[in-house]
Amino acid sequence: MTDVRRGKIRAVLGKRQPDLTVFLENVHKPHNLSAILRSCDAVGVLEAHCVSFGTRPRAFNDTSAGSEKWIPLHQYPSTKGALELLKSRGLQIAAAHLSDEAIDYRELDYTRPTAVLLGAEKWGVSLEAAALVDKHIIIPMHGMVQSLNVSVAAAVILFEAQRQRLEAGYYNASRLEPDVYTRLEYEWLHPREAEVLRELGKPYPTLEPYSG
Ligand code: SAM
Repeated sequence: MTDVRRGKIRAVLGKRQPDLTVFLENVHKPHNLSAILRSCDAVGVLEAHCVSFGTRPRAFNDTSAGSEKWIPLHQYPSTKGALELLKSRGLQIAAAHLSDEAIDYRELDYTRPTAVLLGAEKWGVSLEAAALVDKHIIIPMHGMVQSLNVSVAAAVILFEAQRQRLEAGYYNASRLEPDVYTRLEYEWLHPREAEVLRELGKPYPTLEPYSG
């Protein structure tokens, strides 16, 4: 492991946003899932959440450029349970949803702890989810087609969140709890060793102080 790699990992961890996330409701196509996680990585999302119909396994493809290694995707059995959990963590839930009550996505305050909910490619956000969230947000459309591809919609919204958070100074210093930062630094530097230690139930060793 080189100091350059460790420096890169520390720089990325230092910009991760633990209170900005996405919730993907039945987004199944591997290229969409992959593209969304790639945008999450670029914006600094720490982890993502999803619910899926049936038992179809998740899959990523080259579109992710390996982002799934850096963004854990937590899967839940139901939308309701998942949204309750996210709300209990203090997140406002904004569904990207083409409804009459939707506000322009730029009007939302993304400096608040926020989860952006995105709907299925074919059906959009479920009625259940639409009723449970705090806000509906819309990217104004002025063309012939009614909606964007879900991964494009995710990118547009996430980069507005990044813009607001940059302005608020959220990327100037690490926003991770020290124990989370230390754990992730070890896991990202030594993924195989970390996996073995987790399986054995052993703690990670302390890394040498960073000298870069
Ligand atoms: N027919 C679906 C509908 O009526 O919602 C279209 C689904 S769209 C292809 C997939 C997802 O992308 C939507 O559920 C929404 O989360 C997001 N999306 C696409 N275009 C959007 C827009 N203009 N504003 C907000 N969200 C959008």
